[in-house]
Amino acid sequence: MSDHPSYEIFIADPVPQDVIELVPNGDERMFSPLSITLVSGDRDAVLVDPPMTIAQTAAVGDWVESTGKNLTHIFVTHGHGDHWFGSAELAKRFGAEVVNTARTIEHMHANLAVREFFWDALFPGQIPATEVVATEVSNNAIELEGHTLKVIEVGHTDTDDTSVLHAPSLDLVVAGDVIYNGVHQFLREAQGDGINAWLRAIDTVASLHPRLIVAGHKNKVLDDDARRTIRETREYLTTAAAVLAERTTALDFFNAMLQRFPTRLNPGALWGGATALYA
Ligand SMILES: [Zn+2]
Repeated sequence: MSDHPSYEIFIADPVPQDVIELVPNGDERMFSPLSITLVSGDRDAVLVDPPMTIAQTAAVGDWVESTGKNLTHIFVTHGHGDHWFGSAELAKRFGAEVVNTARTIEHMHANLAVREFFWDALFPGQIPATEVVATEVSNNAIELEGHTLKVIEVGHTDTDDTSVLHAPSLDLVVAGDVIYNGVHQFLREAQGDGINAWLRAIDTVASLHPRLIVAGHKNKVLDDDARRTIRETREYLTTAAAVLAERTTALDFFNAMLQRFPTRLNPGALWGGATALYA
């Protein structure tokens, strides 16, 4: 058993979307920053949530190579393409296995089915030719030099059927989009019971009592403090639910949330959610 597992994060900076209209606050439409996590033992490593574009995938591959670790597994927390389109390429480059839950695999196929209309429209020519090469993770666990990384299914968060990776020996949860850190949360799929379901998922993460959380979308100047990120992710959702109940238009909702959370990155993500919630 390796004594000192560790983790590092690669932040893929925001890339512009091919959308002409500006966000109501005047911003250009951008995609949120992406967090790609490498959990390493002495020799081996596990990569969580590979990025989206050809350029990001190449940069993450070079970063993994520079660590000198042997990449054994790639784990994907949920089916949104920004968390896995680069997985087949990286699996091939390092001879690694892509593993995740059966539900995530279904969701990956669904994202692949809309890539032309959704992902390629937002990022023309930038999304890699890809396929789903993932297999179902056995026993919801990935072994890393004698340390068990546990896959925990948490249900609906910013989309359906999401999961997190818990590394007890590191006091760490790699949380995908269950927890956000200084970035506007994606509420496009929050209709109906969406916000309550997301809050329940956060309770599940909190019950693991991690000290550290890597959020799938984080502001790179912020730390990975679990208590703060859990509190702030909850606060954003409960505020969104209250504002939804009192505001009648997408623009009013957007302005109220922006005023309440002025330092979060990417108001464009907030606007994307607002337009869907008031559609
Ligand atoms: Zn997502």
